[in-house]
Parts: sequence; C-alpha cells; structure tokens
Amino acid sequence: MSKKIQAIRGMRDILPEQTSLWQQVEAVARELLNGYGYREIRMPIVEKTELFCRSIGEVTDIVEKEMYLFDDRNGDSLALRPEGTAGCVRAAIEQGLLHNQVQRLWYVGPMFRHERPQKGRYRQFHQIGVESFGLAGPDIDAELIMLTARLWKKLGLADRMELQLNSLGTSEERIVYREQLVNWLEARKEQLDEDSLRRLGSNPLRILDSKNPEMQSLIEEAPLLSDFLGEESSSSFRKLTEMLDAVGIPYRLNPRLVRGLDYYCNTVFEWVTTELGAQGTVCAGGRYDGLVEQLGGKPTSAIGFALGLERLISLLENGENELGQTQMDGYLICVGDKAQEKGIILAEKLRDALPDLKILLHCGGGSFKSQFKKADKSGAQFAMILAEEEVENSQIGLKPLREKGEQKSVSFSELVEFFKNKSL
Ligand code: ATP
Ligand code: MG
Repeated sequence: MSKKIQAIRGMRDILPEQTSLWQQVEAVARELLNGYGYREIRMPIVEKTELFCRSIGEVTDIVEKEMYLFDDRNGDSLALRPEGTAGCVRAAIEQGLLHNQVQRLWYVGPMFRHERPQKGRYRQFHQIGVESFGLAGPDIDAELIMLTARLWKKLGLADRMELQLNSLGTSEERIVYREQLVNWLEARKEQLDEDSLRRLGSNPLRILDSKNPEMQSLIEEAPLLSDFLGEESSSSFRKLTEMLDAVGIPYRLNPRLVRGLDYYCNTVFEWVTTELGAQGTVCAGGRYDGLVEQLGGKPTSAIGFALGLERLISLLENGENELGQTQMDGYLICVGDKAQEKGIILAEKLRDALPDLKILLHCGGGSFKSQFKKADKSGAQFAMILAEEEVENSQIGLKPLREKGEQKSVSFSELVEFFKNKSL
C-alpha cells in the first residue's frame, strides 16, 4: 500500500454527521439576513496580497504572520483571504455598488490564517460576514447588533452569549489617546512583554488586546480611550446603547475592547461566550468608516461583523439543541433482482409525487434480514418493502420503524396518500 496523504495541519474535514448542523445554521442565518434586507455577495477566495496589507494593516497579527501567500505564475503576490471585509469592500468599489447607494451585504465561506491550531482556532475556518455601506449610524450599528441577537435567539443560544461594546472614537481622538498611552507605557517599559515592546512603536493600541495575563493586569491601569472621546463620538455611542436598552438587549461596556484589525473606528463589539475557553469570541465587528477611501473609493460610512462558524457550531454541539440530523421518511427495501429493478423506478415515482419526501433507496442487494437491519439503523420512520410477493401483486409493504405496528400491504396510490397525510 502506498503512504497515505493527510490533510494540511489546521484544515479540517467537516464530516457527514456534522454537515447537517452546518446546513441548518446556515439556513437560519440566510433566512434571517434576507428578512432584514441584506443580500448575498460572493467574492473570490484569492485576492492580491496588497489588498490585505492596505486594509487590515501592516502591523497586525494577520498581516505580519498569519497570511497564506504565494506567487502567481506571472509573479503577482496573492493571498488566500484571511477575512472577508477587505474583499467585500474591494468588490463594492470595483463593481460600483457604492455610488450614492446604501448596501446591506452578507457572505459566507472559508477564511485562511496560519495560526497555531487548537480548539476553536483553525487554519481554514468559516465565517458569515455582514457589511453595510452608506449609513453613518448609530441606527444601523444597532440593527446589526439586533440581528445577531435574533440569530442567537433562533439558535437557542441567547442566554449563552454576552455582548461587549466599546467605542474607538475618531482617528483624531485616537491620535491624542495614542500619545498618552505611549507615554504611559514608555514609563513602564520594563514590564512589557516582547510582543508589546514591538507594538509600542508601531501599533500601541493593539497592546490593549494582549492575551498575556501579566500584560492584562498592567493594562487594567492604563488610560482609557473613552476619556478621550469628543462630544459627537460619545453621544453617538450613547444613542446606540439607548436603542439596545429599548429592545432589551443586555451588553457590557468594555473600555479595553479593541479589535485586531486596523480599520475600525467608533463602535466595536464582540459576542463572547465563557464556554469555549480562550476562543470565546464567536462574533466580532465594528465600524470602519475610513476603509473604503483607503482602498480607493469615495469616503463611505461602513460597519460590519464576522461570525466564526466553527465556534458557533461547537457551542451548539455543547448544549442541547433541536437542530440535528436530517430525518429520512422511508427506507426502500428491495429483495431480489426484479424488486431491485422495480424499486429504483418506484422511488423516482414517489419523489415525483411527493417532492419533499426523503427516501433512502437500498442499493447493492442482500437478504431481507440484512436490508431490514440497515433500514432500522438509518433512522428512517418507515420501511417500504418490495420482495417477490409484492412485485407480483403490484403492492408495497409498509412497516413503521419507530413505533409499534404491523406490516401492511398498500398500492402505490395508497402509499402516496399515506405519506401525504403524514403532513410532510
Ligand atoms: P481571536 O482574537 O480569537 O484571534 P480575531 O480578532 O482574530 O479573533 P476576527 O478577525 O475578528 O477574529 O474574526 C471574527 C471571528 O472569526 C472570530 O470572533 C472567531 O469567531 C472567528 N475566527 C477568527 N480566527 C479564527 C480561526 N483561526 N479559527 C476559527 N475561527 C476563527
Ligand atoms: Mg486572531
């Protein structure tokens, strides 16, 4: 036997027993987003490397060390997308979606980051992303948060998520704050870890986001950005919290919440659960008013978020939820050559008559006993049986598999009626 080839580290197969939950989560999200007037956009998975350097920022974890880069055959440097916002903004500018128009967009798909794989952290993972363009907020900020809250409710997760909120203010306000923060950190330089020392000169706000516990206790004492916000930023943020109060969405103000990407301003938020250890952030987003211009478009208000599907699914798998495997209605047993020939035709005719009926057709022959075992194991509600006798009499055997009941013989039209009345 030749040597087996394995998947790339951190890139997982999502197996058939899991995809059913994935499909249901995606379907709930799709319906919800469509119901709020958001429309799907599908972007390429590969973009020019420059797009991410210019948008996410040169001095961020993603651009410094997490991107999958390769040279195209003509020498262009390309990247597997580490997130969706940059590509979405690129597409919106390039396709003229932003000329005096409001856009509410969403997408779903794989993202790639070369991180250390662990639970809730993979090198290929999936996000649902939502972006809105042309609206300055805070009403749209509230809408985005409300629709995520509704998604948790629909998935039965509402009481397992905490909303954290902060405002990063305008870039002018951040410049003043940044100076104060750097002065404060310079005075405590000997307490900074290696990462933070490196960031001090390049991206000091990111130090606030450090996951190192020692750094976190130092940061507790650092000056707060909220003390540097002007009247406009503060009042816009206050209005957002009032709207959330009005619809009863609880939140925690977290003055140290900064996001790992450079393009954010004003409102930022995260939905966090305590159940997934250090990988507790399920959904994160914020306002990025400067990004469209930075990527060559006209100044455009924008806000968005991304939701990590692996973390969401793992939360659903942790708890009791009603989402689960697709339930088959019937398993068609065919014993003997003639029955097999008839069976495949019968299954197609049934699907024609009842397009929503879920039927598993037994393929590959075998004894009645072995087929019946498979029918039972499949989880189907009913066994339909075609053996020599049924074929001769143009009948089908029907037997419940999940409750007590005798096998009975029915005609094709009786079978159709039967399943119809089961209100499929
Ligand atoms: P973290 O702080 O956990 O590294 P992040 O700030 O890098 O997250 P974002 O870029 O904001 O994450 O991505 C939004 C969401 O996508 C995260 O909240 C998370 O749910 C998910 N996500 C990010 N990176 C990964 C990954 N490597 N594997 C699985 N999910 C991820
Ligand atoms: Mg990260």
